[in-house]
Amino acid sequence: MQHDCIFCKIASKEIPVKAVYEDEHMLAFPDINPVAPVHLLVIPKRHISNLLEVHSSDGELLAHIMTTIPKIATEAGLSEEGFRLVINTKRHGGQTVDHLHWHVLGGRHMEWPPG
Ligand code: C5P
Repeated sequence: MQHDCIFCKIASKEIPVKAVYEDEHMLAFPDINPVAPVHLLVIPKRHISNLLEVHSSDGELLAHIMTTIPKIATEAGLSEEGFRLVINTKRHGGQTVDHLHWHVLGGRHMEWPPG
């Protein structure tokens, strides 16, 4: 737990959110400022600042998250038309919250390349 981290506060329930999925390792909840009809955030409960801070010892956690995201997306109604999964990393990646998170974006067609 990093005390100044908003997603750690969400993970510990200090800040309440309406979780769409939760287990002991991870949490998924709607983004407060959605940019698509479905916009979920998926976070590990343990603080990891960004993808550059991931180590091979985190492999099991990452595999768990990556195999759970399709279930969350399916539950959100995104399996038919698909969705986009995004990990913004540091400044050029557009990361604004320094706690590793996946954006699950769906419900409309996504453009490529991103802006
Ligand atoms: O990838 P990035 O760091 O920019 O994404 C952070 C996301 O967290 C934003 O989409 C923002 O809307 C969301 N957010 C949230 N609840 C908060 C703070 C940020 O859903 N309390």
